[in-house]
Amino acid sequence: MAQHPTYNVNILGSGVSGLSTALALLEKGGYSVKIVATHLASDLSIDYTSPWAGAHWRSYADIADLAQQERDTATYTRFTHLADTDPSAGIMYVTGNDYWEVKPKKYEDPWFKRIVKSFKHVPKEELPPGIEFGISYLTVTMNAPKYLLYLQNKILAHGGTIERTTVSSLKDLAQIPHNSQGSKADIIINCSGLGSRNLGGVHDHQMFPTRGQIVIVKVPDEIWPKAKKFTMERYAEGSAMGTGTITYVIPRDNGEIVLGGTMENWNYQEAASEETSKAIMSRVLATRPDLFGRATILRSCVGLRPNRRGGVRVSAAVEQLDWNEGWDPAVLVVAHNYGHAGFGYQSCVGCAMRTVENIEQCLKELQGAKTAARTMAKL
Ligand SMILES: Cc1cc2nc3c(=O)[nH]c(=O)nc-3n(C[C@H](O)[C@H](O)[C@H](O)COP(=O)(O)OP(=O)(O)OC[C@H]3O[C@@H](n4cnc5c(N)ncnc54)[C@H](O)[C@@H]3O)c2cc1C
Repeated sequence: MAQHPTYNVNILGSGVSGLSTALALLEKGGYSVKIVATHLASDLSIDYTSPWAGAHWRSYADIADLAQQERDTATYTRFTHLADTDPSAGIMYVTGNDYWEVKPKKYEDPWFKRIVKSFKHVPKEELPPGIEFGISYLTVTMNAPKYLLYLQNKILAHGGTIERTTVSSLKDLAQIPHNSQGSKADIIINCSGLGSRNLGGVHDHQMFPTRGQIVIVKVPDEIWPKAKKFTMERYAEGSAMGTGTITYVIPRDNGEIVLGGTMENWNYQEAASEETSKAIMSRVLATRPDLFGRATILRSCVGLRPNRRGGVRVSAAVEQLDWNEGWDPAVLVVAHNYGHAGFGYQSCVGCAMRTVENIEQCLKELQGAKTAARTMAKL
């Protein structure tokens, strides 16, 4: 790790993307990091997706999308390490079960079967009622609110700072003093999730919400030891992996179980629908009556997945921001890490690592340009 921070970084967003990116920079060394965000870990708001996630690791990366596979793999590796070593992260091992009511005609095993342990096709006699085909494998679940606090604590312990502020543009983000001495940022990173749709300097109209309603339950104490050991996703006939009607079960390390769910594009409705909660409960019950017959409903919640046409935006460029009066034109590295839809947790470590690599590439370019300019000046 470098001894003195070299570059000042202002990060917008304190969801799983912003916090993971901050931690990756601090762990790398050579960066002083400040996070600014409207919502911070432990807040609950429809404009803050991260606390509402189930969340579990189940990659939907296309068989050909090597970049996404790499990001999901890096995250799986970190998460399993945390499950082995650090209970404060809220990550626990489970057996992941994916069930198809009707086996898809062109079924292929998912790419990740080569990285997870214990991948297998579930024997017919072990399949729940109404299921024709299933796979199982070792994976992890994250207690989302706890994991956000874990990341926040790590960042503070590494000397990062966090400030509750709302900005209206990238320029605002760059102009926020990086520290109490009023130093300027050398690098800004946009991790504002769905906020990227309305953020000045970004206005990404490829962004849209995919509403997800969940029901959080508890099961009787004698059932919990069995229920905490598995996740389940059930795909209705005709739905591909990750689309259509999905029914899912995700236990958290605090004894709660998240039941889902819905995938409603362009729906911003904040209030949970009672009818939807009933439908989720009955789909889950139909699959595992043995576990959820006596479940107690704690609450129903809604989150908006920050979806993006064209996929996630993980990029960086050297830019000269067009300042108004009172500011010298500034050359900055401007990076983005947003648009993670329903996979922000399972790819967070890999996306953060990629963001750091992108930034370092830009810093090299910048250094090269400065050296060339000095050489020219001497000539
Ligand atoms: C029901 C549900 C289930 C899910 N299950 C899973 C799962 O099992 N596995 C998985 O991997 N993912 C899951 N997800 C997806 C995951 O939750 C998201 O991909 C992830 O939380 C996105 O995080 P983010 O940090 O990019 O955005 P957010 O968490 O929304 O954070 C955005 C941050 O930017 C800040 N911000 C935005 N605009 C501004 C502004 N102008 N000024 C200041 N601050 C601003 C916000 O305050 C916030 O701090 C699920 C999501 C839902 C809703």
